[in-house]
Amino acid sequence: MRITPVIALLLSISVMSPRAQEPKPSAAPTAGFVLVIHGGAGLMAKDEFTPDREKASRATMEAALLAGHGVLARGGTSVDAVITAIRILEDSPLFNAGRGSALTAEGTVEMDASLMDGASHRAGAVAGVKHVKNPIELARLVMDKTPHVMLAGEGAEALAKQHNLALMPPEYFVTELRRLQLERVQRQEKARKEKQEKSQHGGVESIGTVGAVALDKHGNLAAGTSTGGMVNKRFGRIGDSPVIGAGTYAHNHTCAVSGTGHGEYYLRGVLAYDIAAKMDYQGWSLTNAATDVVMRKLSEAGGMGGVIALDSKGNVAMPFNTQGMYRGVIRADGKPWTAIRKE
Ligand code: ASP
Repeated sequence: MRITPVIALLLSISVMSPRAQEPKPSAAPTAGFVLVIHGGAGLMAKDEFTPDREKASRATMEAALLAGHGVLARGGTSVDAVITAIRILEDSPLFNAGRGSALTAEGTVEMDASLMDGASHRAGAVAGVKHVKNPIELARLVMDKTPHVMLAGEGAEALAKQHNLALMPPEYFVTELRRLQLERVQRQEKARKEKQEKSQHGGVESIGTVGAVALDKHGNLAAGTSTGGMVNKRFGRIGDSPVIGAGTYAHNHTCAVSGTGHGEYYLRGVLAYDIAAKMDYQGWSLTNAATDVVMRKLSEAGGMGGVIALDSKGNVAMPFNTQGMYRGVIRADGKPWTAIRKE
């Protein structure tokens, strides 16, 4: 068929339509920059969430926000800010990531993490790692040093060794608090089974997963998530946190998202990507898209959790359908804001 000038024009218009366009490698520079973090969503068991623990958790979140702010203020990338903030939360025994990860039914630690760069749309993820001090750094190595998106278990740890990432013995990750939590959840599960009630495994006790989303001075978005997963999980279980589109997603064209909650629901609903898709295909605002996905879609499916979401204009949404979600925001003014319960 001969392509007439009219057909050529129509073709070029359809190719240029905004919906079909990939994001520009770097969005327009913005004066402002933003970092948003979470430290997990769920029910706060009274014996576990003491005022002292809340205070210490908020102080750690503030430290993470300030460190990430430092990176962004110096003109660093959103990817670096996300990793800097998450590393601090992974090193704290208070959160369910890195040291202090939730335990499997066997009392062991298996960690998942992922990272996505909204400018290049590259991503890296690791699943089921047992010795890597900072799984988020290993996710970056997968993104930067391999042609793959996700590595699991031994192969992931081999990459960590190859690049001299810090490795720790299993005892480093296991805290007394997580041991007690596992015992409590196993007792509750047993009681439920005896009463033949439907299992609510993990929906409430998994609080502490960490995540961060950032917008840098160059206008680029990034997202990352790191977790020990659900307490009392089967060994080998992989949640949503390392799955791009489920627990983590970033695209300059729409938004950056990190989720926390009952991962199976995030996996089945592809929730992080769903927020971006609503913005992309339907032109929804960040707040409407994130609120609809968490408060309607996740809730209707029977799942518990929340997300932090950020768009390229610096709008922030942090919906959750649980009792609380550890969360914090810092903008260019450098004043960290944190919250735990609904406020
Ligand atoms: N989403 C995580 C998982 O399912 C747990 C959490 O966020 O608390 O592994």
